[in-house]
Amino acid sequence: MLSGNPPLTPSLIKQGDSRMAYTGRFAPSPTGPLHFGSLITAVASYCDARAQQGKWLVRIEDTDIPRIYPGSEDHILRSIDAFQLEPDAEIIFQKDRLEIYESVIEQLHQQGWVYACQCTRKMLGSNHIYAGTCRNSALPFAGQAIRVKVDDQEICFADRLQGRHCSNLQRDLGDFVLKRRDGIINYQLAVTVDDCLQGMTHVVRGADLLDNTERQIWLGRLLGCPELQYMHLPLAMNDQGQKLSKQNMAQALDLTQAPQLLQQAIAALGQPPVEIAQPREMLAQAASQWQIQRIPQGTRIQGIFL
Ligand code: GLU
Repeated sequence: MLSGNPPLTPSLIKQGDSRMAYTGRFAPSPTGPLHFGSLITAVASYCDARAQQGKWLVRIEDTDIPRIYPGSEDHILRSIDAFQLEPDAEIIFQKDRLEIYESVIEQLHQQGWVYACQCTRKMLGSNHIYAGTCRNSALPFAGQAIRVKVDDQEICFADRLQGRHCSNLQRDLGDFVLKRRDGIINYQLAVTVDDCLQGMTHVVRGADLLDNTERQIWLGRLLGCPELQYMHLPLAMNDQGQKLSKQNMAQALDLTQAPQLLQQAIAALGQPPVEIAQPREMLAQAASQWQIQRIPQGTRIQGIFL
């Protein structure tokens, strides 16, 4: 049982008291060019931060090398430029930070929270819940997946748009993977470590990531990170009722149309209209008018976006 143990605070992750009242971010993965759904997330995270005099950062989540789509990192950076979404610090790239994630795994290892696992996906069975088969096998780490232990307890958070959301990770998922057998650092670990180290206070992102949040809260607790405020945005859909995504070939943002697209993204978020101008001015106006109670309810935005 893990529940009696105190939370862990790896020396790497220190809780600075210089934390600002609000630090938010946009954290795209370069698995395809940015599309209209990504723009909605970027604009919402930017306006929410600016409306609260917060800092806003950009982080490229590029640990999953096999899924990187050629040219998409460049398109993301050009989009940030074209939409004049100006971050308050240099953009960071997770692929440059692999040593940090490895050292966090090592610390969790020393503290007994992670273990090597040789089970294949097939062995998990149809419900995909991992039963902890390798927990006590003490397998060597090299060439194996690394899992983190979870506990039999309800983890809940109050999403600013979606309301209360809970999961018992042991019941719903089981011990989950932090590093894959092929050596790739899992998104859950990288996102939690970086949100913590970058001093994030707020996460604004698509509702497709709602179900990942309890895993990140759990990891954040193990690492002694402060809790974050979450806001999961409804998703824009294509004409087949699927969320816009890189997988279903959502159209890349046309950077020659930045003001028009920005105007549409602000409207899709239910915000008061903004005049066409330089993107910087449009964003400033949108931030000054920002009201989260106007964002469409639920996890889907009505209307069809390509
Ligand atoms: N990198 C993730 C994505 O592009 C988003 C991560 C996050 O905002 O937590 O879907």
